[in-house]
Amino acid sequence: MKICKICAKNDILCSACSRKVEQGEITPESVKISRALEKIEEGMDFVQSFEAMGRIFIVVRSEDTGKIIGKSGKNAKSLENLTGKKIKIIGKEGGKEMLEKAIGISIAGVNKVYGAEEFYRVRISRKEKIRLKPGFEKVIKSIVGDKAEIVFE
Ligand SMILES: [Zn+2]
Repeated sequence: MKICKICAKNDILCSACSRKVEQGEITPESVKISRALEKIEEGMDFVQSFEAMGRIFIVVRSEDTGKIIGKSGKNAKSLENLTGKKIKIIGKEGGKEMLEKAIGISIAGVNKVYGAEEFYRVRISRKEKIRLKPGFEKVIKSIVGDKAEIVFE
């Protein structure tokens, strides 16, 4: 979830957007990224943004990946300068490929668990565990949902 067009162009938030930020529907990073993108180029869109593992993740539709990175990474660099953070752009592809790109290790599998409360179970090989960087749980939960369960097998 992102802030509205008007808020992206201004430094203050309208009451609707500020309520969403307070309730956690819009992350503070999404506010920053919306405004930064507005400064870089007209009409650049993203799906969600969050901070984890010492960087700001920007999830974009797969077809928008090239556009948001820019020629020779020009836009990504501008985003890093405007936010003062390392930026990681990932295409929303769904499935485990996207998670693998986000956390930088291979994942054994992602399963949807059905029941009263549906959630995703992310299975990671114990051998990969050592390569995981602190904060990876937040990346997984931000992408597949807060109820995600992470298991090592
Ligand atoms: Zn607004």
